[in-house]
Amino acid sequence: MTFEELKLAPAILKAVREQGYDTPTPIQAQAIPAVLEGHDLLGGAQTGTGKTAAFTLPMLHKLTNGRSKTNKFGVDGIAALVLTPTRELAAQVEESVRTYGKYLPLTSTVIFGGVGMNPQVDRMKRGVDILVATPGRLLDLQQQGFMDLSTVEMLVLDEADRMLDMGFLPDVKKVLNLLPREKQSLLFSATFSDEIRDLANSLLREPRSIQV
Ligand code: AMP
Repeated sequence: MTFEELKLAPAILKAVREQGYDTPTPIQAQAIPAVLEGHDLLGGAQTGTGKTAAFTLPMLHKLTNGRSKTNKFGVDGIAALVLTPTRELAAQVEESVRTYGKYLPLTSTVIFGGVGMNPQVDRMKRGVDILVATPGRLLDLQQQGFMDLSTVEMLVLDEADRMLDMGFLPDVKKVLNLLPREKQSLLFSATFSDEIRDLANSLLREPRSIQV
């Protein structure tokens, strides 16, 4: 299996080649075709398996072919939302989005707590295609009227088990309630408790399951 065989856009393949990857990891080989076909996904994967690229690459591909919906503020609405448990992971995921998307005309930003809100508000006012965020700060901005989530077409819950361990389930549920019903959803978790299964069952529609 090669990245070329996964039928990703040339601009994405170029960025992947520059990273020096020659073979997709097992989760990438399974997840990328499923996501490109539009399926919801339940992914059992630890960090270090290449799971970030497994969702980032097909996400970028799907957004290359024409977007964006204008949001209620009159700027590009969020097309893809990635929720992560920690600011470190959020920053890392957004860095991957930038790296793999460097030859695409897509914009991204990252939002997390513990830092000033104003730069994040200013950034959202300019419009963004891909948003990576921790749930608490995302809700803060939403509750203050700076966040329109009605244009989201793809959602990723990354490290869902850690998100629940950290007590973010209520916040995650609030965010989910702000998203359109019609969307593609991916949930990644290293472990599967009853709570994770309940969350997956309420969110995912006929998901493909991948375990690496
Ligand atoms: P992750 O599991 O997403 O945290 O990725 C773990 C590490 O694997 C990161 O440093 C990636 O840059 C690297 N990586 C991801 N996909 C590949 C690949 N197909 N070939 C080689 N390295 C990769």
